[in-house]
Amino acid sequence: MSMQISTTRTERPVDDARLAEILAEPGFGTHFTDHMFTVEWTPAEGWHDARVTPYGPLSLDPATAVLHYAQETFEGMKAYRHGDGSIWAFRPEENAARMVRSSHRLALPVLEVEDFVQAVEALVSVDERWVPDPAGEKSLYLRPFMFASEAFLGVRPSQHVTFMVIASPAGSYFKGGVRPVSLWLSEEYTRAGRGGMGAAKTGGNYASSLLPQSEAIAQGCDQVVFLDGEEGTYVEELGGMNMYFVFKDGRIVTPALGTILEGITRASIIELAGKMGHQVEERRFGIDEWRDGVASGDIVEIFACGTAAVVTPVGELRWQDGGHTPAPASTELTSAIRQALVDVQFGRAEDTFGWMRRI
Ligand code: PMP
Repeated sequence: MSMQISTTRTERPVDDARLAEILAEPGFGTHFTDHMFTVEWTPAEGWHDARVTPYGPLSLDPATAVLHYAQETFEGMKAYRHGDGSIWAFRPEENAARMVRSSHRLALPVLEVEDFVQAVEALVSVDERWVPDPAGEKSLYLRPFMFASEAFLGVRPSQHVTFMVIASPAGSYFKGGVRPVSLWLSEEYTRAGRGGMGAAKTGGNYASSLLPQSEAIAQGCDQVVFLDGEEGTYVEELGGMNMYFVFKDGRIVTPALGTILEGITRASIIELAGKMGHQVEERRFGIDEWRDGVASGDIVEIFACGTAAVVTPVGELRWQDGGHTPAPASTELTSAIRQALVDVQFGRAEDTFGWMRRI
């Protein structure tokens, strides 16, 4: 079933000169396109009133449930312009499916995969001129999100829910070329527990990561790495990226799913690495296996992955009282995987997996 979407175009779009300025230096998450997508849900009506309207502030009752109980989910994905000017999304159905899973955990309604994709396509089509040229790995970042919009302070699933999509041009994650990220091991804080919501893409997980992330920055590191909440010995993921460990004998290990975000880049790398002849093991991965593996030379590469940075080498790992493990020597496979993914996303290589969807 497809949604009926009404479109009201803004009378005051950002003018071409200003747009060119923004697209030259988009940064991340500060500039937004001319329009936004909205659809509402109630138990009686289901999803209704789908619309693309001029981008602008929301007016919310102070009792709106999301502001109190954080009942919300979101997604992060990108639209890429190819050399011939066409615009493509990378595996948008996977983001849609992940939002269904996240929303289930947050007691939010199901937005069907086709409706999610249709919403994203409707917005990108109207704001097509905001998709940057592919030079410098620029793209249009898409932020679908769903939140409890009922004005009610009772603690129960909201009876009014809003789903929106906004879009923001994004520069490359790396300004002066790909550079390893240094990591701070959070020993005090964890991100998720058994039965919790670690696998859901929901604001609360990010709120709880801000303090440990600030600690990482204060310690001179780029990102925080979280361990499991039960034993505190297994590597989970970074604040916004999944992790991979490459062994001397060609094996690759990535922490198993369960309490981590089911990264779409992570899943794509499992397929890609398989095609490159590497077997990927999804299993628990101890922090000592990391330290010992780098020390013995068994681990030859470590990288992190996610929509924002695609793939980035992991540099030094540091923790309390001056402890540290150096970066592994090589980044060869890391670079090859990164290049293969980026080439598919920007249409410079054949899309053998059928990952790209034309908008
Ligand atoms: N882990 C976390 C906590 C994240 O926020 C993200 C970014 N969405 C990822 C992993 C990577 O996921 P993806 O590859 O789907 O961007």
